[in-house]
Amino acid sequence: MITDECINCDVCEPECPNDAIYMGEAFYEIDPHKCTECVGHFDEPQCVQICPVACIPLNPEHVESRETLMQKYERLTAIKVTTASTGA
Ligand code: SF4
Ligand code: SF4
Repeated sequence: MITDECINCDVCEPECPNDAIYMGEAFYEIDPHKCTECVGHFDEPQCVQICPVACIPLNPEHVESRETLMQKYERLTAIKVTTASTGA
């Protein structure tokens, strides 16, 4: 999750391999349904690594095991493949 300390520097959004980061009403937000904490893509959460003001803590309401995150990654990847093959 991104806290209200976010300075809207735009750095994290393009780094997310899952397109989970988007501009919210006041500052950037993360879609928890798309965020895999970078599991499946990288060893470390890319947005957390890159944020200059360290305002991206883990969301205590979305604590997920590595297995759950990997399953989400596989689901998201499957959706992407399906979308690409149908041209949608
Ligand atoms: S942890 Fe990874 S997947 Fe989640 S929002 Fe950050 S960059 Fe995207
Ligand atoms: S990198 Fe941090 S400060 Fe910059 S937009 Fe993302 S959350 Fe906000």
